Amino acid sequence: MAIFALTVLPILTFEYIILTIKYNVLRRIIAFKYNKVTLRTVFIVFKYSATAAFRSSGQDWMIYSLAAADDSRDSIKMRTTLYCFSLLIFLHSWASRPSYAQNRVHQLARDVYYWSGDLSKHEQTNVGFVIFPDYVFVIDANFPWAAEKIIADIKTITPKPIRFVFNTHYHADHTLGNSVFSAHGAAIVSTENLALELGTKGMEDVREQTKIKLEHLELPSIRFHDRLVFDDGQHRVELIKYGPAHTKGDGVAYLPAEGIVFVGDLAVNWGFGNNLSDQDVRYIGWIRALDNIAQLPIKTVVPAHGDLGDVDLLRRQRDFIADMWKQVKQGLKAGNSPAELKKTVQLTQHGIFVRDPRETEGMIESMCERAQTQPDWNSGNADPE
Ligand SMILES: [Zn+2]
Repeated sequence: MAIFALTVLPILTFEYIILTIKYNVLRRIIAFKYNKVTLRTVFIVFKYSATAAFRSSGQDWMIYSLAAADDSRDSIKMRTTLYCFSLLIFLHSWASRPSYAQNRVHQLARDVYYWSGDLSKHEQTNVGFVIFPDYVFVIDANFPWAAEKIIADIKTITPKPIRFVFNTHYHADHTLGNSVFSAHGAAIVSTENLALELGTKGMEDVREQTKIKLEHLELPSIRFHDRLVFDDGQHRVELIKYGPAHTKGDGVAYLPAEGIVFVGDLAVNWGFGNNLSDQDVRYIGWIRALDNIAQLPIKTVVPAHGDLGDVDLLRRQRDFIADMWKQVKQGLKAGNSPAELKKTVQLTQHGIFVRDPRETEGMIESMCERAQTQPDWNSGNADPE
């Protein structure tokens, strides 16, 4: 950190000033120092010191963005943008550096744990793991920079190999870490629909969530249609498909003996909203999925984002989505515009799900955009009201 501050920052600042000087004469006088070799050297030194700084402050996600940047970009604008962006992130990460080692592993039952996600570190997904007699079974892969931490944390608890990683749905914060787990010998497991979605929409979601451009995504190699069970007599994990709901291929991991269910994004328990905008979202399917999961004998619900809950969390999540869907659908039928509905749809009674008014407006907007292509409110075999 100190090396970064004392060496690279002044160089970057100096270069930035030079790059932005408007006077051509002065720029020409100084420019000879800034030939390609100098720039490349600065870039490499910057990359290494910034990597160390980000690692020491726990902001590992920035390392991936840095690794994706290359020094052959000749455009001054590109370099300036990269430097300014990195500088800001560095200052942010320095200011938010952890003051103590955070324990992110929480035990739920014998041999059953979850690793808590953290949005401030861009690793927001809660990741479950079950220690079978011969291997470790992981639920959701998080991002690659988090996957490395998760693997290290699992190794502090058990020397058993991580053999399987289940993805609850295809979004990047649940699947991008697949490549790290498979490099450690794990096979990726999912519903058939998830594998199809990851293959077709996965890259776009990676770009949206991380700005990283990738050539390759690690697709699940073990795929099931409705249900797949891991049971060795000591532990039982049932993987059950509930999509189309939040996405087409949603699945949950249910542990009947412990009464624990890992629900992915079918239910969240934080104030940053739900992602209601997947192109294959099915609101009615989502409401029914939550109704059906709530029928299982459950003590603990582990949402992919936010704190633990119980069956009440599933019911509140269901009521929130059902209420919004009803108001949006009725509002659109009455001729209201999405802009009007953002102001008139009344959801304040839904507590944590609507803590952030801007997120709530975004959710209403997503619903309005998708309303035309969704099954009507009272279609199908049961009215979810
Ligand atoms: Zn998510």
